[in-house]
Amino acid sequence: MNKGQKIIGALILIGVVGAVIGYLPMNKNQQRKVQQPVKQSKLGQAGHQLPKGAEASDWQLLLVNKQHMHKKEINFKKVTVDTKQLDQRIERPLADFRAGAKKAGYATTLVSGYRSIAYQTQIYDQSISQHEADGLGQSEATKLTQSVIQTPGSSEHQTGLAVDLAGNDAVAKYPELMAQMDEFKSQQWLIQHAPDYGFVLRYMRDQKSVSQTGIDYESWHFRYVGIENAKYMTKHHLTLEAYVDELKKSGKI
Ligand SMILES: [Zn+2]
Repeated sequence: MNKGQKIIGALILIGVVGAVIGYLPMNKNQQRKVQQPVKQSKLGQAGHQLPKGAEASDWQLLLVNKQHMHKKEINFKKVTVDTKQLDQRIERPLADFRAGAKKAGYATTLVSGYRSIAYQTQIYDQSISQHEADGLGQSEATKLTQSVIQTPGSSEHQTGLAVDLAGNDAVAKYPELMAQMDEFKSQQWLIQHAPDYGFVLRYMRDQKSVSQTGIDYESWHFRYVGIENAKYMTKHHLTLEAYVDELKKSGKI
């Protein structure tokens, strides 16, 4: 081995040792980086134990919002409860939910159930007309309407899986449905126990939920998603948007 070869050999050795030393800590860092978001996450990160068999395409998880508009009527078997229509599949869970409330001392009113797109269009248009009659310009009237009434095609009431449900006392005080209905114990009971019957409070109060759903806090709007999904969503504080997203990211489509 001449002098030149020795130097090259030494350089290669330094390179190999350096690479091994450099590689190890880097590898640990990378692992830490990958694990951290999963540990810290409360929202929507894959890695939680998802409910067995849950898939984003399940009928209970049908997502209707401004980004997922359904401009055609959704087909399902309807049933009438207290003059309101519902998807027949939630008749029993809703009856159990309300019976549970009654047993706890809270009689409830089913304020709203399924709404057809045609009906949604009617109340939407009527609201705009009313605001215009009150003196607002068209764009202001539309804006004000959209703050409380979903644009036809984007209302979850089209699914027949959503209900506006409230304690009789809360409805008596706020017949037009207001967030403050949750000052009543009856409403608090409904919100707290909904998941036991397969329902979730769909539009929660916190800012993260509001930005995900695009809808302000509604203390009266419950959505059927099935018991396992409801409990999982509640435990991890997930909106339906975030939950469906999590299922899709986990390949449960
Ligand atoms: Zn509603």
